[in-house]
Amino acid sequence: MTRPIKSIVVLTGAGISAESGINTFRASDGLWENHSIDDVATPEGFARNPQLVHHFYNRRRQQLLNPSVQPNPAHMALARLEREFPGNVLLVTQNVDNLHERAGSQNLIHMHGELMKMRCECTQLIFASSIELSFDNLCRCCQEPGNLRPHIVWFGEMPLQMHEITQALESCDLFLSIGTSGNVYPAANFYHSAKSHGAQTVELNLEHTHSDFDEHIYGAASSIVPAYVEGLLRSA
Ligand code: NAD
Repeated sequence: MTRPIKSIVVLTGAGISAESGINTFRASDGLWENHSIDDVATPEGFARNPQLVHHFYNRRRQQLLNPSVQPNPAHMALARLEREFPGNVLLVTQNVDNLHERAGSQNLIHMHGELMKMRCECTQLIFASSIELSFDNLCRCCQEPGNLRPHIVWFGEMPLQMHEITQALESCDLFLSIGTSGNVYPAANFYHSAKSHGAQTVELNLEHTHSDFDEHIYGAASSIVPAYVEGLLRSA
């Protein structure tokens, strides 16, 4: 017998933002916007060539500021779920874009960081950033060049707020995984953690991934997510 749904954890990935015009990360060939992840998404890549890495994230940031890039109906539906569901909804995103917050989501964890922020490697202070970053920028805290980096969790680094995420996964009744390939860890294991603590697990994706969810719903996020949220709210 399934237990009543009082608490929901939603995990989103690059697929939810695809229909907003932001390319997904092609894990199958290890390329992100035609760059090797080793070059643009690892601490080693940044140490080798900081200008290339800054340039890459400057372009991603610029793209996000383009008026044509807007939250789509899937982002809007998750914000509605948080507003209208009579229980707890935590949204954990692997995305570094800001489309969830622009859609109105508030109980949100950016486990892989945020494009619109930068961080001082020396003090770990985090600043809002809509500027073009370069190796020569001085940080506001130490006034030294070379200390600022994109506030992005790169491969090999620890995702953010894992303690809070783990607690939520172990106590939720429903776990939704939306637009993520399940290739990036530890997020790829979240469904397993929720399931082993008794939650129902549902995947909403364009195509089948290899993970063993209780239910799979296939289609474009902008149509399947609003429909799923509508049903969930109606039965709540
Ligand atoms: P991924 O690119 O590995 O997988 C994307 C998944 O989304 C695939 O399973 C695909 O079938 C599905 N998908 C594609 N279009 C869809 C649509 N319209 N509707 C529903 N599903 C759709 O993405 P990931 O699992 O999130 O891992 C990518 C990593 O790269 C993350 O760590 C993330 O930080 C980073 N990234 C972020 C962004 C962003 O912020 N928007 C974009 C690219 C990469």
